[in-house]
Amino acid sequence: MDSDSSASAVSLLGSDEPPPVELVNADGHSSAVLVCDHASNRVPRLLGSLGLDAVQLADHIGWDPGAADVARRLSTLLDAPLILSGYSRLVIDCNRPLHSAGSIAEQSDGVPVPGNRGLSPLERENRINALFRPYHDAIDRLLDGRTRRPRLLLSIHSFTPVLNGRPRPWQIGVSHWRDRRLAALMLGVLAHCGEFTVGDNAPYPIDAEIDYTIPVHGEARGLPSVMIEIRQDGIQTAAGAAAWAARLAASFRLIKAGALRILGSSFSVHSASDPL
Ligand SMILES: [Zn+2]
Repeated sequence: MDSDSSASAVSLLGSDEPPPVELVNADGHSSAVLVCDHASNRVPRLLGSLGLDAVQLADHIGWDPGAADVARRLSTLLDAPLILSGYSRLVIDCNRPLHSAGSIAEQSDGVPVPGNRGLSPLERENRINALFRPYHDAIDRLLDGRTRRPRLLLSIHSFTPVLNGRPRPWQIGVSHWRDRRLAALMLGVLAHCGEFTVGDNAPYPIDAEIDYTIPVHGEARGLPSVMIEIRQDGIQTAAGAAAWAARLAASFRLIKAGALRILGSSFSVHSASDPL
């Protein structure tokens, strides 16, 4: 960054750069509302490459490889709305509370991030205003606009197959915060097929101190919500992403009745319109 970029509340994004948030299929009829916090590894031009090389930015520290592909396919299969973040989690992590150390990480998985060191309060504010707030405001607007129908929040992520030198056994994980009900339904269906090792609140349990999307947009609204983590080696090709999207869509359809019971009788009367 040059000195001008930190001297005032400049717009972090150029007018020719992609927006901080993308909304897909806003009027989708599904009860599922999909979000993808780590969809992109793009860095605003003004921030250069954050001092990282292209290989580092393309790695899992920069984004969730494959997650956006699965989320887009799932949006189509379920006719569900989907919101994706437009920029790298290393610029500001949209699934971290702003007070957490991981919000603008100075290192990730042992890799120092030079462009995140020694930021001024104004530089932090610029990232918050340009990227974090528009993304979460978009989720708020979407959820606010769907209060008359069932809403089940599914946050789609991917995880690296090996972390700190240790292979991870799960092909997929379903995580929840305090409300386990929707996760339990998903876990039951995914485990029942017997094909995969399914993580129950693994590889990452949700913690309101380090997670933002599920605690804030899910539980704080009283919405059943889950974080779905797919191992990246299973979705690095289009065929792999398509297969996992199809499995998740099939699983979601199977939990329809149970999900409606969680939401309560006020919505079950609408079952004739098959909102799931
Ligand atoms: Zn993620």
